[in-house]
Amino acid sequence: LLAFSRVDPLCSTFSNLPIDTCRGPFQSTGGQVEDAIYGQIAQIEQYPRTSQPDASFFVADLGEIRRQHSRWMSHLPNIMPFFAVKCNPDVELLQVLKELGVGFDCASVEEMQTVLRLGAPSTSIIFANPCKTPHALAFAHGAGIKMTTFDNLDELDTIKNYMPDARLLLRIFANDSNALVALGEKFGALPDSIQDLLMRAKDLNLNVVGISFHIGSGASDPSAFQKAIAHSRQVWDSARSMGFFLQILDIGGGFQPTEAEFTPMATAIQSAISEASFPGQTIFMAEPGRFFARSVFTLVCRIISCRKSKATESPQRVDMLYQNDGVYGNFMNALIEREDFAPSLIITKGHLPRKSEYHAYTIWGPTCDSTDCVSRKASFALLRGMLTGKPAYTSATATNFNGFSSKTKTIYTPKEKGY
Ligand code: PLP
Repeated sequence: LLAFSRVDPLCSTFSNLPIDTCRGPFQSTGGQVEDAIYGQIAQIEQYPRTSQPDASFFVADLGEIRRQHSRWMSHLPNIMPFFAVKCNPDVELLQVLKELGVGFDCASVEEMQTVLRLGAPSTSIIFANPCKTPHALAFAHGAGIKMTTFDNLDELDTIKNYMPDARLLLRIFANDSNALVALGEKFGALPDSIQDLLMRAKDLNLNVVGISFHIGSGASDPSAFQKAIAHSRQVWDSARSMGFFLQILDIGGGFQPTEAEFTPMATAIQSAISEASFPGQTIFMAEPGRFFARSVFTLVCRIISCRKSKATESPQRVDMLYQNDGVYGNFMNALIEREDFAPSLIITKGHLPRKSEYHAYTIWGPTCDSTDCVSRKASFALLRGMLTGKPAYTSATATNFNGFSSKTKTIYTPKEKGY
């Protein structure tokens, strides 16, 4: 049996092992992503397996970027998206976003260089890292990137020295306690420090032009946006009363890509903005990362080994699959966000599974490390040709641990006409 499995949001590729869990053969719907997956599998299978490293691969659905952009514009047309490059710095993705007029949130020199090389204007970039090195600030200054964030007094001194003409956004604390990554633990000025920060900025003659916040990556509570927007309005007024001319509210990231999750967030944001009644000329912006990246990429991996448990073994021990990508590669989110990947199995070459029962597996990465576990409760059911992988923070966090390469090939679907 040669089968390919995918994990939602990531995919797995299965080798010729007796996988007895799939209830039926994968049937391609003939979509571009499926075609690209099968095309790549066919290419791989042309050659002996010993002649190639047998790495996982991505398929990127470029049309999905435009679809997500339309979704954004239909719900939040008044809020300019600046894609968080850290989420996935894939150059084709960045290029399409640039062509759609999306700006970029960069956190490092490397990220700024990447988007500048694509021809993104410096005015379409926010250096959204509240703690920057002099080198990085000097680079941004030289490149004409002016907008950046701060949340502490030291940072104001560094900015004064290396980017004195910066357009500054004060990053305030915000938090969705259910967010997968609690960014508020690391960044964001607490209410009792805001006055001091603004006074110091005034003393240094720095130009504070707005407020920013981030409720946490992988957020789920729309009311966290509402609270943060209401608090921003209060800080806005304090800053105005100290003589700053504020123009920008940056509501950060935290957006989920699906319609079901995005709509309530967008509705909450719009009502909070109108309730807070910011001045008419206010520019609203946001830093979505996962919102754009997650639905674009599908990751396909190969199962390289399978270990069956004996009935006599501990009942907790289910059958184990070992694949060619893991938490030190494109699945780091299994560790960081405890993301639970739900795999799908793709059958190729007409091989049918032996049995039809639903069956549980643990899925492990290729390293010799027992933390390298991609899924502890994967099980495979009938596939109906649904192939919509949705990874975010995959290649961006991959390492070379244990000598396994972090380089993953990406196959791009053709750009749609008029995207
Ligand atoms: N903006 C900043 C400053 C971030 O740190 C992040 C993620 O860490 C993002 C935007 C992207 O947020 P999300 O992953 O919720 O899309």
